[in-house]
Amino acid sequence: MIQLEDLTKTYRMGKVEVPALRGISLSVKQGEMLAIMGPSGSGKSTLMNVLGCLDVPSSGKYYLAGQEVGRLGDDRLAEIRNRKIGFVFQTYNLLPRITALENVELPLHYGDGNHGRKRALEALERVGLGHRARHRPTELSGGEQQRVGIARALVKGPSLLLADEPTGNLDSRSSLEIMAILQRLNREEGLTVVIVTHEADIAAHTRRIVSMRDGLVVGDEPVAAPRVAQVEAA
Ligand code: ADP
Repeated sequence: MIQLEDLTKTYRMGKVEVPALRGISLSVKQGEMLAIMGPSGSGKSTLMNVLGCLDVPSSGKYYLAGQEVGRLGDDRLAEIRNRKIGFVFQTYNLLPRITALENVELPLHYGDGNHGRKRALEALERVGLGHRARHRPTELSGGEQQRVGIARALVKGPSLLLADEPTGNLDSRSSLEIMAILQRLNREEGLTVVIVTHEADIAAHTRRIVSMRDGLVVGDEPVAAPRVAQVEAA
């Protein structure tokens, strides 16, 4: 699914060069679920931006589903991003004045009409929120808002889900709910899931932990016995 070969990214700020990624080689198979961990400034966000085709590397290679994407222009990059990748954000990034359903429908572009509405509703049902479709984000709990965020990420049928600190704003119970959904999507639907997290007990719900420091991968270990997120009904 993902193959990185000696990937670097250097930001230029005036005359100063900031090396954010200094030679990353990593391979992720379809259907994996992994966590990326590391201290602030270690390059996690930069790596996610490159993986998500939001930014291009300075050197090295990035193959996504067999296609080299590291050197594509903006239009092609956007097309691949739209077709293959779903994003989940720490702060959900929902529009507050429209309903959950309308938020999920947004990535489908206008003009998709009833068909789009049906797909959005199906995506909400996949995260257990069909009954909240007509609520606005302000009428939902943090955990529910993040589930809407996941539904929005799913609505176009991506094969890769990139989640940047998806539980960073949530209490431990809601965090477990989110991890239970991500685990189910991975296990039952074969979605490849990459999660950036600071929290070791969140990472323990994945099957592999990649550790970063100073723009390099310094650890890459399978999780011996991944925790299963179980949430009792409220
Ligand atoms: P993390 O997500 O692990 O906190 P980042 O990928 O955000 O790390 O940052 C890695 C390094 O790149 C840091 O030194 C950071 O200051 C630098 N950096 C990140 N984004 C930019 C940018 N847009 N311009 C210049 N430097 C950046």
